[in-house]
Amino acid sequence: MITTLFWRCPICKKEDSIFVKRSIFKSNRLFCSNCHSYWTIRRIVGKDYVLKLTDTFGNSREMSLSQWYKMIKKDFVPTKKDINLREIEKGEDIYLISNRIKLFAQKENPILYNHNEKEFPWKACKDTHYSYIKYVGWGNLLLSNERLFWNSNNTLTFFWLKKINSVFNEANVFFSIWYGDYKYKFRFYKDSILKWLNYIGWFSEEIFRKYKHKIRIANY
Ligand SMILES: [Zn+2]
Repeated sequence: MITTLFWRCPICKKEDSIFVKRSIFKSNRLFCSNCHSYWTIRRIVGKDYVLKLTDTFGNSREMSLSQWYKMIKKDFVPTKKDINLREIEKGEDIYLISNRIKLFAQKENPILYNHNEKEFPWKACKDTHYSYIKYVGWGNLLLSNERLFWNSNNTLTFFWLKKINSVFNEANVFFSIWYGDYKYKFRFYKDSILKWLNYIGWFSEEIFRKYKHKIRIANY
């Protein structure tokens, strides 16, 4: 899905403003609801996609998808959401909230059985690397500058960013993390995994400065 790549408008920098406009007579377009720029898409055989931008002034410019993606990421700074959770600490703010998504965890993970702590399990008694994944439940994921929160049935459980080993995209549908010895997979539907990787990438530098912990983040 090209809109999950265009998670931020390369022209006006507004997030989640780009939509596909389908047309019977013309080719489909990408359209920014904020600045009204639009892109027409052309595929060069054996090469990247080329997208032609037409901005509000009628000026046009053609660039490859990878060049546009560089512009999408350029000068990115997260903006905090106006949300107050009882659970957040001083100096902590919420920056992202996902739509409803599914959580999966490995079959040995106590989260599937009885886990009453606020923090997600991270220490396993045996090697879980190759164990299979089971469905945990539906919920929303929230990102603060310190944690990922999982909100399910109005119960919050969290992961410390300072304990996340790695974050990555699997098959463009799963946003996955390794938290200590356990792997967690979030099935995204509408949300852009690239957007979440960009945000976590941005906060990972702060986490490294504060805690000397490095989060490995897949290319984004
Ligand atoms: Zn725009």
